[in-house]
Amino acid sequence: MIIARNVFKSFDELQVLKGVDLEIKKGEVVSIVGSSGAGKTTLLHILGTLEQADKNPNTVLNINGTDINKLNQKQLSRFRNESLGFIFQFHQLLPEFTALENVCIPAFIKGTKKQEAEKRAKELLEILSLSHRHNHKPGELSGGEQQRVAVARSLINNPSVIYADEPTGNLDSNTADDLHNLIFKLREEFNQTFVIVTHNHELAELADRKLTMVDGLIVN
Ligand code: ATP
Repeated sequence: MIIARNVFKSFDELQVLKGVDLEIKKGEVVSIVGSSGAGKTTLLHILGTLEQADKNPNTVLNINGTDINKLNQKQLSRFRNESLGFIFQFHQLLPEFTALENVCIPAFIKGTKKQEAEKRAKELLEILSLSHRHNHKPGELSGGEQQRVAVARSLINNPSVIYADEPTGNLDSNTADDLHNLIFKLREEFNQTFVIVTHNHELAELADRKLTMVDGLIVN
């Protein structure tokens, strides 16, 4: 379960989050919609521990029983790598590594053995219809293929929560449908929680719950 209370965030003079309150149950697929600049990505980054909320004694951020504010940097990195997955539009694959190697990286960081990591990576690449592209480097893959490699990478450690920012942003409609199906399949298999920021109307509506952000606050 994700519990966020009184989350504030400012960039210099600009107050982007104005006291967000949010509860997301384990296994829930939640979409966050709202106009450009409403603060969706900023909120996602804070929920994903990639960015810190403003210091405030009333702020709560608890993910599956872990109080994020109590973790030091090392504990936070470990928690992030083992429990959280990210699907972002700018997928930042490492250009010098193959698709398979890119997918394995979070597992290697966690200490998973090479053979085991590669087995899981191959399974994921197969689900994402990329079996034939294992040994290609990102520069040799299309945008949609790179996106799917990033999705496989985000899933390799079976994270309990997956944060996605415009996950269908550069996918054609067939691949976007595959990704929608995958999200629900994973939820069924592993009871993973998904928090998805999207302008994709269809994906937003498919979620169990759609939250709308307006000017730094969730309004429903
Ligand atoms: P979009 O739908 O366009 O992606 P969004 O709702 O995700 O928008 P955010 O990316 O969270 O919005 O940005 C909210 C506001 O905060 C914007 O005005 C943006 O310019 C500003 N902002 C975001 N990150 C930073 C930063 N690192 N430094 C300064 N301002 C920032």
